[in-house]
Amino acid sequence: MTRNQAPVLIVGGGPVGLALAGELGWRGVACTLIEQGDGTIVTPKMNEVNVRTMEFCRRWGIAQKVHACPFPADYPLDVAFVTSLAGYELGRIARPPRMSEQAGPHSPMRLEVCSQMWFDPILQRFARGFPHVRLRCLTRLEAFEVSERGVCADLVDVASGRRERIEADYLVGCDGANSTVRRCLGIGLDGETLGNPVHLYFRAPGLLGICGRKPATFFVTVDRAGVWSNVRVIDPVNAMWRLMVLDAGPGLTPETVDREGYLHRALGRRLEVDWLGTSVWTRRSVVAQHYSRGRVFLAGDAVHQLSPTGALGMNTGIADAVDLGWKLAAVFSGWGGQHLLSSYDGERRPIGARNVRMAAEFYGEHEKFGQGIALIDDPGPEGEEVRRRVGQSLVRGVGRMFRTIGLQIGYRYGHSPICLPDGTPPDPDDPDDLIPSARPGSRAPHLWLEDGSSILDLYGRGFVLLRVGLDAPDASAFEMAAASRRVPLQIIVVTEPEAADRYQRRLVLVRPDGHVAWRSDELSVDPATVLDTARGAHGIPA
Ligand SMILES: Cc1cc2nc3c(=O)[nH]c(=O)nc-3n(C[C@H](O)[C@H](O)[C@H](O)COP(=O)(O)OP(=O)(O)OC[C@H]3O[C@@H](n4cnc5c(N)ncnc54)[C@H](O)[C@@H]3O)c2cc1C
Repeated sequence: MTRNQAPVLIVGGGPVGLALAGELGWRGVACTLIEQGDGTIVTPKMNEVNVRTMEFCRRWGIAQKVHACPFPADYPLDVAFVTSLAGYELGRIARPPRMSEQAGPHSPMRLEVCSQMWFDPILQRFARGFPHVRLRCLTRLEAFEVSERGVCADLVDVASGRRERIEADYLVGCDGANSTVRRCLGIGLDGETLGNPVHLYFRAPGLLGICGRKPATFFVTVDRAGVWSNVRVIDPVNAMWRLMVLDAGPGLTPETVDREGYLHRALGRRLEVDWLGTSVWTRRSVVAQHYSRGRVFLAGDAVHQLSPTGALGMNTGIADAVDLGWKLAAVFSGWGGQHLLSSYDGERRPIGARNVRMAAEFYGEHEKFGQGIALIDDPGPEGEEVRRRVGQSLVRGVGRMFRTIGLQIGYRYGHSPICLPDGTPPDPDDPDDLIPSARPGSRAPHLWLEDGSSILDLYGRGFVLLRVGLDAPDASAFEMAAASRRVPLQIIVVTEPEAADRYQRRLVLVRPDGHVAWRSDELSVDPATVLDTARGAHGIPA
């Protein structure tokens, strides 16, 4: 057995592990990522990279690569509700093609449709670009031991069977739903199982023309039995599609799935397709009881498994990685306080629970359409009336999962031990709306600066103290307190009138992850206390 060392050992090379490796690399922290597979994507699950993840990609300098992915920029991202692809259309949510959609008022970025088969390799290349990041495929974690000083992990080379022991300061389990790391820690999951979906991947050139259907990216199919499946184009250029049966019942295997039957029902006609793969999985709505224990952390599907309704799974996991990443980097740099890493659980677990709950709520919207729709396929006026009524309800109800700007960027660390409350009440946490807020714990709001950049571009490396307006109080005491603690701090004056409106205070301290730690109009609190709280050196002052 050989012995190796790594400051941070990341287990799992899915999007969350890769994002963490990239975030740590970007911050100058050496890490090793191990992945039991060979790094190729067999069945791509994720397709929607949400606004917050795109903001991280912008910071990492890879947003343009995501934007330039092979999904055609002029392909409409519409969502259509249909009885089948060749049947009636009941309603449609217009979502403009990527090339014509402008970013909204709340972010410099917009959601991108970019399948995991393109997104993961972008993250891989980003992480590999740092000489201090090591990505090792075909390497599996088998077990580990934790002590006060570090972690000893037992790895096996999947190809040769060769065993190896690696010593790390910290271990992060990004090893997915069946997380070995979580199980070794004995951490349970709270929640429920929502069903047994089936994925059918196929190639079908000219599918929409054959079905006489106007293009869209996502088709929700509803027949007399209710909403039962969706059909998504994954790669329009290569005619790659995925049919998801929402709940095919327990006990199926890929071999026993009636692919032809499901396809016929979804298309409303027979069609020869090239089958690419079948997967049977379990729709879960669960969150872990703890996100960390001692020197071991968990992120991504290892700690939250969401119904894909709302496209929140990977996006929530990548935000976990970003929260943990700056904290680990602060500890390695020496300025992170002793409570900083333990704030990871306190900040991210409530967000995991929130997103799991919302994804289940969106799934529940699908189940509301079983009654009173027997005539949905009837060509006569009564059928017409059913289709009109059901179509409107579908756009309103099931369509909620496509109107989620609040969910994507409105999450906040309201009760974080490393944010200093300012006594203001929280704004409503509305999934489909966002009231920009710089209340401590919130993601610092976006606005355009005079030079054409976003204010978000100021955040990332260290802390930023914004002095908002020309008459903002002098902040040199902050500078001194930061210097004596070796906390990286930049003091920046912003004079755009919108900054005063969105940030609401003349002094605002923004953390390296872009969340607000503290704000005030006056320097009424000792800057040392503010910084010590924000870097996790002590709790909230009485
Ligand atoms: C149909 C569907 C659609 C989805 N759409 C979206 C979407 O649009 N947007 C979104 O945000 N999310 C979406 N999701 C969810 C998203 O796919 C997952 O949340 C995401 O893949 C989780 O990433 P992860 O890195 O945490 O885990 P995984 O992707 O599961 O990766 C874990 C990795 O760890 C490796 N591993 C496991 N154990 C070990 C070990 N012992 N040693 C070494 N390696 C190990 C595995 O091989 C695997 O590569 C969707 C999910 C489904 C099912």
